[in-house]
Amino acid sequence: MREGEIPIRICPRCGEEYQWVERLKTPHNTYLYFVHYDPATGKRRKCYGGPVSAYSYVTLLHGDLGLVLRGLAERGRLKEYIVALLETLEERLESDHESVREEALELLDMLRRRVDELSRLRTQRSLPATREERERERRPITV
Ligand SMILES: [Zn+2]
Repeated sequence: MREGEIPIRICPRCGEEYQWVERLKTPHNTYLYFVHYDPATGKRRKCYGGPVSAYSYVTLLHGDLGLVLRGLAERGRLKEYIVALLETLEERLESDHESVREEALELLDMLRRRVDELSRLRTQRSLPATREERERERRPITV
């Protein structure tokens, strides 16, 4: 499964299998619903999947972090969120306010430790190489 993709027929809200997705169009947005249907009883239950595009109102509340929040169906959300948060962190590291810079430095240290931990765990579990590692191995050695 590619990053950001909805797992096939597993509802991201309740974790149960769904049978189909319905889209409800309004003048301003399109919303997803995961439909759980039991053919034995004929009962239907719908789980709200959020808007197809950005969560405009919620995004306004997270503007200070540089985030544009996306719906469940949006691909590449994780990468986009991480890049936006790193850019915000970079700005804060260059802030004129000492307290802002200090908080950003603490976050940077925490991130560094966490990324190191994750890298170690990945190696211990012998997880597949990342795309960058595979490309590095394919490159001819230059002297
Ligand atoms: Zn559900």
